[in-house]
Amino acid sequence: MKTIFEPFKIKMVEPLSILSTEDRKKVLQESYYNLFNIPAKFVTFDLLTDSGTSAMSSKQWAAMMEGDESYAGSESYIRFSNIIRDLTGMEHVIPTHQGRSAEALLCSALLKPQDRVLGNTQFDTTRANIESNGGVSIDLPSEESKDAHFEFPFKGNVNLKLLKEELSKNSKNIPFFIMTVTNNSIGGQPVSLENIKQTKKLLSEHNIPMFIDAARFAENAYFIKQREEGQKNRSVKNIAQEMFSYADGVLMSAKKDAFANIGGFLAVHNKDLAKEIRNRMVITEGFPTYGGLAGRDLEAIAVGLQEILSEDYLTYRIRSVEYFGKGLESAGFTLVKPFGGHAVYIDASSSLPHVPQKYYPAQSLSVAFYEEMGLRGVEVGSVMFGYLDEKTDQEVYAPKELVRLAMPRRVYTQSHIDYIIECAHEFKPKSDQLPGYKFIEQAKHLRHFTAKFAPIPKESFR
Ligand SMILES: *Cc1c(COP(=O)(O)O)cnc(C)c1O
Repeated sequence: MKTIFEPFKIKMVEPLSILSTEDRKKVLQESYYNLFNIPAKFVTFDLLTDSGTSAMSSKQWAAMMEGDESYAGSESYIRFSNIIRDLTGMEHVIPTHQGRSAEALLCSALLKPQDRVLGNTQFDTTRANIESNGGVSIDLPSEESKDAHFEFPFKGNVNLKLLKEELSKNSKNIPFFIMTVTNNSIGGQPVSLENIKQTKKLLSEHNIPMFIDAARFAENAYFIKQREEGQKNRSVKNIAQEMFSYADGVLMSAKKDAFANIGGFLAVHNKDLAKEIRNRMVITEGFPTYGGLAGRDLEAIAVGLQEILSEDYLTYRIRSVEYFGKGLESAGFTLVKPFGGHAVYIDASSSLPHVPQKYYPAQSLSVAFYEEMGLRGVEVGSVMFGYLDEKTDQEVYAPKELVRLAMPRRVYTQSHIDYIIECAHEFKPKSDQLPGYKFIEQAKHLRHFTAKFAPIPKESFR
């Protein structure tokens, strides 16, 4: 069937705020054209992130009432750790208040200055934790991922040839490897089971442990089922269990594929490492059986980790993201291919060819989406990854100018997506009139969060 329907019904609703275009123009002006500065109540479709924005199920809310808030050894921890032990096969389960605290604990326990941490592509917070512990983060993304429009089923893979080279150069100061599934930084692209297996084999020859960053493990397992030879008759859970079977440890932000609004965990085989981490975490996170979370949060995560394995849900999820991408393509926008698991990425350089890179085409497009239809996406281009080089006083630009539209889980319906696609069709023909932008204020680090911008009309481009 062509029609995609949500495999759930709605028991609780939250009204959308719908502003006029005039009001949105005012909001943009007052926010200095930075979408991070816009109060959420002025946004109709908030596709800024899929992190912590999921709708919880009635079962999750019911489980929260069973939250055992005991300081030590709570029943909720026991239920939480049993679910994660069954899924990952890891004996030692440590809750953390979100994904980055699991990263911080792992890095502080294992990293020495100048150590190299390899991975398919480290997520920003992972890289920041590696670097702030004195380490060096090295990405080894697949060759296929370099071409944004090349259709390849597993663009999230590790480049095994480069991995071999890195290991033969010097394998002494590599305390661990991180495999991120799906590969968020290159667009939510999956990693194949074969690639995970081969990576583990190479690492084993040098006794280097492999950790899986499992933020979107279920979306990844579903892609394996769909795209990898010989996998289509297995359950997603069984595939996920095989993925984890090659790992020495798992880190997860529960704000993604666990349908939770907060939380995370670290799970490991090694008893001594678990002990070391538990000793450290009491200083910053709390007692090891709650790790900065309430008992009710542990319950919501435990239920969410079971619900995410529903193949009806995953079929709907992956199909609806693909439908969204195809709709935007049919409106005339150029998108990164294949579409990711949790988001679509619009290539702003080719979608707005009249805006030169120095006037931030992806900023222009993301602002226009808000003005036109109340949709908030995020610029993933030179505003986010470029910077002002202090030595030369020259702007350094990012390799790609993208706008990411991330889909919160179970929040927006197909008719919301249809409406956005219809608006995109209306708006594309006039997008050749859009202005560019310039910074009027920017911070030294992570400038995209707080920067202020002013529009530069097309006529003034030089
Ligand atoms: C979101 C994310 C993290 C960080 O998790 P937080 O819960 O936001 O701290 C780490 N890795 C990946 C791949 C992520 O998507």
